[in-house]
Amino acid sequence: MAGYRRVVVLGGSFTGMLTSAMLARHFDEVFVVERDEHPTGPEMRKGVPQARHCHILWSGGARIADSYLPGMTEGLLAAGAHRIGIPDGLISFTPFGWQHRFPESEFTLASSRALLDWVMREKALRNDRISVLPRTEVLGLTGGTDRITGVRTRNRDSGEERRLEAELVIDATGRGSAMRRWLEELGVPAPQEESVDTGMVYATRIFRAPEAAGSGFPLVSVLADSRRPVPGRGAVLMPIEGGRWIVTLSGTRGGEPPADAEGFLTYAREGVRHPLIGNLITGLEPLTAVQRSHSTVSRRLHYDRLAVWPEGLVVIGDATAAFNPVYGHGLSAAARSVEAFEKQIRSRGLAAGLGRSAQRAIARAADDAWMMATSNDASYPDCRVASTDPRLTDPAAHRRDSDMMSNLATRNREVSRAALALMTLSTSIAEIQNPWLFAALRRGPEVPLLTEPPLRPAEFACLRTSAAAPTTA
Ligand SMILES: Cc1cc2nc3c(=O)[nH]c(=O)nc-3n(C[C@H](O)[C@H](O)[C@H](O)COP(=O)(O)OP(=O)(O)OC[C@H]3O[C@@H](n4cnc5c(N)ncnc54)[C@H](O)[C@@H]3O)c2cc1C
Repeated sequence: MAGYRRVVVLGGSFTGMLTSAMLARHFDEVFVVERDEHPTGPEMRKGVPQARHCHILWSGGARIADSYLPGMTEGLLAAGAHRIGIPDGLISFTPFGWQHRFPESEFTLASSRALLDWVMREKALRNDRISVLPRTEVLGLTGGTDRITGVRTRNRDSGEERRLEAELVIDATGRGSAMRRWLEELGVPAPQEESVDTGMVYATRIFRAPEAAGSGFPLVSVLADSRRPVPGRGAVLMPIEGGRWIVTLSGTRGGEPPADAEGFLTYAREGVRHPLIGNLITGLEPLTAVQRSHSTVSRRLHYDRLAVWPEGLVVIGDATAAFNPVYGHGLSAAARSVEAFEKQIRSRGLAAGLGRSAQRAIARAADDAWMMATSNDASYPDCRVASTDPRLTDPAAHRRDSDMMSNLATRNREVSRAALALMTLSTSIAEIQNPWLFAALRRGPEVPLLTEPPLRPAEFACLRTSAAAPTTA
């Protein structure tokens, strides 16, 4: 591909590595500036504390990641990750009842986040155009309001400060990005910010999976119901590499899951809308302590709307749009943004205005994930909304259609296919609104409401206690 000279990518996590792989098609040199030292195996690191929690990579994101990093999925599976067909391999208690296990239309890749990052990194760094500057912290930008010419960095060991010049600078430093401050130092005004804060707390623990689970155990979820005037409480159980189950409990303001082991189990059995996950983990050997996270606010920084935008700068991933993680959209939305960014490079090259057009394309690529997360979250009691979007300030008036679709998706195969294509970010809200979907919606439910979790015999064997007999709350 056309050789532009040098691009600097700030942050070497999921978005940074995927963006680097994409940019290596267009630039001779891709420098990744990363504050941490990347571990040499699938291990946790300080810069990605959320990696302790369940990380679902939906098919929409997995396909894109695999297209930039060929062999990523195979590498993950070879290292023990699972490919779980959806909804065939999904046991989900939705606000509208149990999801029927229709044949697979989408999938998720199920692994620890540390394994995902490691496999991605291994693939990306095989490209000798990409190199990482480890233990190097970004201090600010160089250039001015017209054009960014590079970054100022500091080596965390030697303290040495240097300037790194580049034709393009990409910020992928995540939720904690200091880009607002860096731009302010150059005289660029602050971007508009929207946020939707349910006060959700995450609590996660990893267990050794029972032998009976084998290698094909489903993804299990008990979803919160935002239509009820009580705090939302949910749970998810995902099989990961090494014969382990990662279990994440989540509760909105007033319904937060506790941090202690006993409270964790009680919450999983009695705090959420169905005890299935609590029953599945009762008696299992815990492999970690309970870990909590409060980083769940959905927040967008609208760099795409600024009147002044310097050439040579793009902000991507969580640094510009971060979502309540309970929908599992952060990684896939970032992957969609990388793809949208590349379309702009292909159509415009590095011509004037690339940064602005890329920023707008990146924002559009995040729209669906934003709308799905925030329109549901805005209905929770005591949710704090900072936005002028009427769909968020008056969510009840706008959720009729999405509720109808979610309801029918549990019992109509075609509606389920469309809803899951959307949930996995494999399609867009605009694309699914077609006559074929409307016809399926008119047909209504095709199969009866399930009154019990749709477990198969081998899965029943994993229910360990007498209290495990499934009952619908
Ligand atoms: C609790 C929780 C659970 C989640 N679960 C899911 C899920 O199930 N599915 C899903 O798709 N998404 C999930 N997400 C979202 C997902 O974690 C993020 O969308 C994703 O990590 C974003 O990647 P990123 O590369 O943009 O940022 P990050 O992964 O946050 O990485 C930022 C990188 O920048 C580096 N950095 C930061 N500042 C500097 C600096 N000044 N100089 C140099 N380097 C710097 C950091 O060290 C890090 O490597 C979850 C998030 C949370 C908080």
